[in-house]
Amino acid sequence: MRVYSAGQLACLTYIPYYWWVMVKRAPSRFNPDALAREAARFEAELPITQFPRLSEQLLNADGVLTSTFSVNQRKNQSVIRGSLAFDAVLQCQRCVEPFVKAIAVDFELVCVSTQAEADALPKALDPIVLDEDGQLHLVGLLEDDALLALPDIPKHEDDASCVPGEQSFGRVQGSATDEKPNPFGVLKDLKLS
Ligand SMILES: [Zn+2]
Repeated sequence: MRVYSAGQLACLTYIPYYWWVMVKRAPSRFNPDALAREAARFEAELPITQFPRLSEQLLNADGVLTSTFSVNQRKNQSVIRGSLAFDAVLQCQRCVEPFVKAIAVDFELVCVSTQAEADALPKALDPIVLDEDGQLHLVGLLEDDALLALPDIPKHEDDASCVPGEQSFGRVQGSATDEKPNPFGVLKDLKLS
C-alpha cells in the first residue's frame, strides 16, 4: 500500500479540477454534441504545415501547433472552449530579419448549423458553423484563431535584436563578390518602391 505524506495529500487537493478530467486526443473531424457528452478534455498536436492559410503567413512552417479544449452544452448549443499555442516564424517589418514569436491564445466558439444562426448570435460570441453533416474539422476550428493571433505588423519586441538599416549598411561596405543573396531583399525593395 502506498502511503502519502501530509504534504503530498495537500498538493493533491490543490491540483486544478481539469487534471481529474480525462484527457483524450482530439479527433480530426467530430460532432461537437457527441464530444460534449464525453465530459473530457481534448488535446491536439498538429504540424503547422497542415494549416495552409497559416503556413502562408509564416516564413517557415516547420513547427507544431498544440491545443487543448473542452466541449460543453450551453442553452442547447455546444461551446468549445480552449487554447492554442505555436511558435510563429515571422519577418520583422522594421529590420527585415526573421524572428520567432510565441503565440498563445484562448478561444471560445459557439457551434451553429447555418450562417444565418451565426449572424443572429450576439456580437460578443464567436460562432463556428458546422458542415452539412454536423461535423467540425479540427484544422478549420483552430486555423482562424491562430491567424487572428498573428500580429498585424510583425516586429521584434526588443530593440537590441532589431537593427534597422544594418543590411543596407552591409551592402555599402561589402564588395559585389562577397554579397550573399538575401531572401528578403525582394520584399525590402518592394516596400521601398
Ligand atoms: Zn527587427
